[in-house]
Amino acid sequence: MNIDQIRSDLEEFNSLLDQEYYLNGAGLKDKIEAAKIYEKYGHLFKRAILDEVQKEARSADGEKERRLRYLRSFLFGNYMENRVKQLSDKATTVESEATVTVAGDTYPFRQAAVVMVNEPNRKKRASIFGARNRVIETINPTLEERMLVLHKTAHELGYSDYVKLYEDIKSIQLESLDLLLRSFLEKTKASYTTQLGELTKTQAGATLPEAEKHDISYVFRAIEFDSFFRREKAIETLKRTLAGMGIRLDEQRNIHLDVEERPKKTPRAFVSPIKVPDDVRLVVMPQGGHDDYASIFHEAGHAEHYGSTRSDLPVEYRYLGDNSLTEGYAFLMEYLLTNPHWLAKYTGMREPRAFLKFVYLYKLYFLRRYAAKLTYELALHRKGLKDAPNRYKETLELSLVFKHPASHYLMDVDDGFYCANYLRAWIFESQVKRILTERFGEDWFLKRGAGIQLQKWWSLGQKYQVEEMLRDLGYKGLDLNPLVEEITSSLK
Ligand SMILES: [Zn+2]
Repeated sequence: MNIDQIRSDLEEFNSLLDQEYYLNGAGLKDKIEAAKIYEKYGHLFKRAILDEVQKEARSADGEKERRLRYLRSFLFGNYMENRVKQLSDKATTVESEATVTVAGDTYPFRQAAVVMVNEPNRKKRASIFGARNRVIETINPTLEERMLVLHKTAHELGYSDYVKLYEDIKSIQLESLDLLLRSFLEKTKASYTTQLGELTKTQAGATLPEAEKHDISYVFRAIEFDSFFRREKAIETLKRTLAGMGIRLDEQRNIHLDVEERPKKTPRAFVSPIKVPDDVRLVVMPQGGHDDYASIFHEAGHAEHYGSTRSDLPVEYRYLGDNSLTEGYAFLMEYLLTNPHWLAKYTGMREPRAFLKFVYLYKLYFLRRYAAKLTYELALHRKGLKDAPNRYKETLELSLVFKHPASHYLMDVDDGFYCANYLRAWIFESQVKRILTERFGEDWFLKRGAGIQLQKWWSLGQKYQVEEMLRDLGYKGLDLNPLVEEITSSLK
């Protein structure tokens, strides 16, 4: 099979897969039938194809090498997923069909999480949490079987373990990233523990070590800030923010905003890049609140990135490559919520001190959580499932202090070390934001020049890795300092 045929088939495959997730998430189709799509394109996931692309990649250089490297990464990743496609569909289907009943009320499993974070009564929250955990326990055997197959497949592909496979195909040193973050965890531990401890005590009536996951979700729900993030103003605020940089969402014919209310539509915003850049769906059903705004802005960042990608780029740069880039651009939009000038202009918040302290604590919590996930996932994929539930609990609790149920040890894992993409994206975002601030000021989001600059970066798709983009901006590569400074100065 020739390489150009693989390229055009993978574009169709990606497109169908994204369409499937779009239909399910938008509430237009109940089941996710990804396995069918994998079967239709089964020829892409044959060992012979992998070997052929691998061989070509080894002898190539320059642009050709880069494209083959991304192609190879895609094929290996999906070769893995293809092996577990039925198990993946089975787990997702249970998740989307399961219900939980608490005190006579029945909710869909996913919806119950929304009810839980909005429940001020600790006992009621605990019963919803317990009921959801019982569903997770029923999914665990499927997830265990799935993980065993993935580990076995990594071996079959010639790697000593799953970690080595992903380090190779993602061109990321996971171990060094883990080490880099250890120092970050150390530096921020005291301020995290004190500040989240105080908040948990006043908002959930528990000390941090006594607090459960549901307490922390409730604390970060922070209803007290809702008046600044009203449901009915969410879309308008997004459009006005983009317009401030000269980007008119309504005139972008290729970015389709799906705001229709549907009973089965997922309440959390998401993007489906069905065809990059010609058909990008931004799916939202605003709920209101700071976290809802953050997720809408995050997804809008992805949508703008995909939607602004040059259409004449090869498929590898439009769909594949380093996902830390698209996550970084998404964070750049999301963390406008941590900019006092943005808060004043778009939410009318004149005294942002309390909110800023709160959102930076929330951001720090996420960073610590993902750093812990990376440490745990490295162990899980090296040492296997034995002792993994306890290891999950211990690792997460060491970083986050509050309680973590051991039963979440597979549910809380993303395939292929996606946690590392987020971690790199957080660091990248802080560095890029520093450049934007230097060039355009603290209120860069009000400058047409910043919009033009962003669109230039977005137009490159995912051709370059974050380190390459940063070197082009004058950095040596990923640098934790801007992020550490941003967080420590805001939490003082
Ligand atoms: Zn994202």
